[in-house]
Amino acid sequence: MSHLPAILETVLSGTVAASAAALTYAVRVPSCAWLAPSVHRGPGSRRSIALTFDDGPSESTPALLEILDRNRAPATFFQIGANVRRLPQVAREVASAGHEIGNHTDTHPMLALKSPSSIYGELAAAQDAVEHATSLRPRYFRAPYGVRWFGLRQAQRRLSLHGVMWSTIALDWKRQTPDVVSRLIGGAVPGAILCLHDGRVLNHRPDIGATLQAVRELLPKLMELGFHFEKVTDILCPTKN
Ligand SMILES: [Zn+2]
Repeated sequence: MSHLPAILETVLSGTVAASAAALTYAVRVPSCAWLAPSVHRGPGSRRSIALTFDDGPSESTPALLEILDRNRAPATFFQIGANVRRLPQVAREVASAGHEIGNHTDTHPMLALKSPSSIYGELAAAQDAVEHATSLRPRYFRAPYGVRWFGLRQAQRRLSLHGVMWSTIALDWKRQTPDVVSRLIGGAVPGAILCLHDGRVLNHRPDIGATLQAVRELLPKLMELGFHFEKVTDILCPTKN
């Protein structure tokens, strides 16, 4: 009996550690959908790749649109509501170039520890901002920092949004171009969803030079490897030709 408290303590601390590990997995791991339904890659039935760009629109987005246009590469942009209100014309340019627009919250908060109503408010405000600027309502949502939290599942359901994570993240906000390109080439598999950034959170006039140069170099390389590019909506469809 005298050992019971010590044993209990060991068991309990093991349980707490296991629970913390499980929570970290649920919150951060792109392939995990415990806290809200999400996908992190397409079925891979075609040699296609989804290019996705987060944190825009920014003043540098039009330069990216030019590169995508030159390579006839459709992409998906997970835009921040506040940036859309700041640059509605750029959001419209993205839409009218035929790219898909997704929801990346209104102000890019870390959703962990936020209340369900605050999470819903972030998603709903971004839906409204994108719709107001482009007349389109996003169907897909990407969580800032890839962090999901309790209440996100219900918010996504109320707004008919489906979560989209990534199969490879470029780290283009902090790595040099050659590193970004080699990471993304390494992640180039049928159905891959690659995550880059055409903005830098809420920064005005962000320097996205590393991203632009990486995309310039990446697209021809991927095409040489036999890949083509699809929007998120298309890459998730197993039967599209
Ligand atoms: Zn982001």
